Amino acid sequence: MKESLEREPQWGQSQGELAGKVALVTGAGRGIGRAIALTLAGQGALVLVNYNGSRERALETVEEIEREGGQAEAVCCDVSDFAACGRMAEEAVRKYGHVDILVNNAGITRDNLIVRMGEEDYDRVLDTNLKGAFNTIRHLSRYFLKQRCGKIINITSVSGVAGNAGQANYSASKAGLIGLTKSVARELAGRGICVNAVAPGFIDTEMTEGLSDRAREGALASIPMGRMGKAEDVAGLVAFLAGKRADYITGQVVCVDGGMAM
Ligand code: NDP
Repeated sequence: MKESLEREPQWGQSQGELAGKVALVTGAGRGIGRAIALTLAGQGALVLVNYNGSRERALETVEEIEREGGQAEAVCCDVSDFAACGRMAEEAVRKYGHVDILVNNAGITRDNLIVRMGEEDYDRVLDTNLKGAFNTIRHLSRYFLKQRCGKIINITSVSGVAGNAGQANYSASKAGLIGLTKSVARELAGRGICVNAVAPGFIDTEMTEGLSDRAREGALASIPMGRMGKAEDVAGLVAFLAGKRADYITGQVVCVDGGMAM
């Protein structure tokens, strides 16, 4: 398996730091995941664009990558489904021979104050944001172990670092993701596998679009740089962590937040 990773780039004419690598990005049809998929593909990786509900958006992401000369495939899977994640991992390795980069980006919010938060909203957020990452890591880590290399990047949040009123479920899932990141980093470090977390602050995507003016103003006031971030700001760091220059970085949580959580 390692040999195949060290071969010359296999995917089309792709050049770049990630040429020859296969990356699975969850929730990559839109938002931050889409920017990550485009950036990794831009650096030469063949990208598996995972989606759950947004098939058209995932196909658009694939088309955009292909237009730019990259390679990608849309892959449907609900990350909260353990068995389905197993099938997705198995199929990716069967088809491409290896997966080298896993980005756990899929995430949802179901915000409410703790006194009003329903059990279903708590469970759904934990199942997607935290168990979803466990599911993909659980199934792909055995291939990473055999390869003796691999990069896992989990998209957490400043809400997981500092907490956020109205987001007990979301913050718990994202704080849990940090614990998952550090534990798996310790387990896999000896085999050359790097596991890191990226914690975005307030990023302009559909997730933040629906916020009330009051919530938006409150969030902006807490950002020293005074503006929202772009999905590309997050994608740039993910691409760095996925590449060779980050081979000695593991178990870290890096905020991309305009100074929000410092
Ligand atoms: P969006 O709401 O724009 O996108 C969410 C993505 O997650 C979609 O691609 C969606 O895919 C996918 N997704 C949701 N549920 C599932 C599932 N069960 N299985 C597979 N995919 C799923 O959010 P963002 O792009 O803003 O957020 C991306 C990540 O960044 C999330 O983890 C989020 O928590 C995190 N983050 C975002 C911040 C922000 O300010 N925007 C701040 C901090 C962290 P589909 O539509 O196909 O279901």
